Amino acid sequence: MTPGRSGTKRIEKRIEEPRGKERDFSALALSKAAYTLSVHDPRELPRPSVAEIAFAGRSNAGKSSAINTLTGRRRLAYVSKTPGRTQLINFFSLDGRAYLVDLPGYGYAGVPGEVRRHWGTLVGEYIANRESLAGVVVVMDVRHPLTPLDRELIAWLREAGRPAHVLLTKADKLSKQAARATLERVRRQLKDLWPESTAQLFSSLKGEGIDEAAAALTRLAAHKNKAPAKGE
Ligand code: GDP
Repeated sequence: MTPGRSGTKRIEKRIEEPRGKERDFSALALSKAAYTLSVHDPRELPRPSVAEIAFAGRSNAGKSSAINTLTGRRRLAYVSKTPGRTQLINFFSLDGRAYLVDLPGYGYAGVPGEVRRHWGTLVGEYIANRESLAGVVVVMDVRHPLTPLDRELIAWLREAGRPAHVLLTKADKLSKQAARATLERVRRQLKDLWPESTAQLFSSLKGEGIDEAAAALTRLAAHKNKAPAKGE
């Protein structure tokens, strides 16, 4: 399942083509998202080029549904659910101008220590060192926000200087008032955890929060042009 080095090279070449357009982030071409490649080892990452917006979250939080909703493609992130691909970083090209990057989910019950360690190395290195990583969308179930693992991830993002945007998804599961109260609480907590983060309510089921999320993604991608992450 893991593509070899030659596969990675072939893809890189394709992504380099639309050079002239690569700094145009007025709107991300979310609807043009196309699966490009999967990476199992940080050494297999393609050469950094266009800005990358990564999606992370506890498994079952609703990350794949959010990606599918935002791209308007019902089964796009299905690729990340294919057995054997769940522990891979999956890249989706946005018309060659940016990448949407689906990071493997965390927090599975009963996952063997080795898989957890692999997750830590793969995602940890990607977050700490990836120069083209512009920002990270952290997907959380609005009913269980900021779990200890979410907090750990946010601490990594802070350490690496990566701006974050939290999608509190499945907002349809709470009353409007309860969802709003959760959003406000999460925003207050994020101020302490990582000030360069924002949050919103989202529902893939109801199609709620799509415009706000698309704007946040565009903002994250643009950030890359202004302030490179620490250590670059
Ligand atoms: P992932 O493991 O984080 O990629 O999560 P999925 O996108 O596969 O979603 C996990 C479960 O939550 C599935 O049963 C989805 O149908 C459900 N789900 C995802 N998003 C929503 C949402 O916005 N509202 C509701 N009610 N259910 C959702």
